[in-house]
Amino acid sequence: MNLILLGAPGAGKGTQATKIADRYGLVHISTGDIFRANIKAGTEIGLLAKSYTDKGELVPDEVTCAIVRDRLTWEDCKKGYLLDGFPRNLFQAEELDKFAHIDGVVNINIDHALLMDRLCGRRVCRECGESYHVSTLGGKTTCARCGGELYQRKDDNPETVGARLAVYNEQTAPLIDYYTRKGIILNFTGSEAPAEALFEEVKAVLDKLA
Ligand code: AMP
Repeated sequence: MNLILLGAPGAGKGTQATKIADRYGLVHISTGDIFRANIKAGTEIGLLAKSYTDKGELVPDEVTCAIVRDRLTWEDCKKGYLLDGFPRNLFQAEELDKFAHIDGVVNINIDHALLMDRLCGRRVCRECGESYHVSTLGGKTTCARCGGELYQRKDDNPETVGARLAVYNEQTAPLIDYYTRKGIILNFTGSEAPAEALFEEVKAVLDKLA
């Protein structure tokens, strides 16, 4: 089963992605994680990506599509994959159609008023990627799951979050129609409720697809 996870930044894609990938044995491919790893390692792709991610803008399509196209040829993708953060615009979606077959698009709709606070208060574990909201941490700086150090993503600041939400509205949201027309959209509503509640709903639908 090959899936796409769609939703605004802060909608809870990362948390759902881990749960979905675990349950259905899928490879979790996050383009944001790929860029962050390249930036950390100081690769050529990282140097290029940094100038865009720092501003909340999209890394050029040719670079992003080439990375995903290559990643999907790896042996592990034969068991199925979950794309998280890709495609981000219509060009990428059309390119993806040329080299992949997608069975379903898990779309998490969420009230955008919730997102600024969620993202600016987000703390992420450097080791396992689990995310938390600062208001629930009571001053703790390590991950409850694995003990890793928690950090604030450089692009989780009000200015960059504003830019990322604008990019989502203008470029990514039209993908909802694109995949609705293809008949493969699976719509869900994110909220303040715990991620487990949303995952129960996702599971009920994906169990029938798997
Ligand atoms: P994310 O972790 O998905 O929020 O991605 C962080 C940043 O990486 C984004 O703000 C973009 O700058 C870049 N990025 C991630 N995925 C893509 C993509 N599919 N196309 C272009 N840029 C991307």
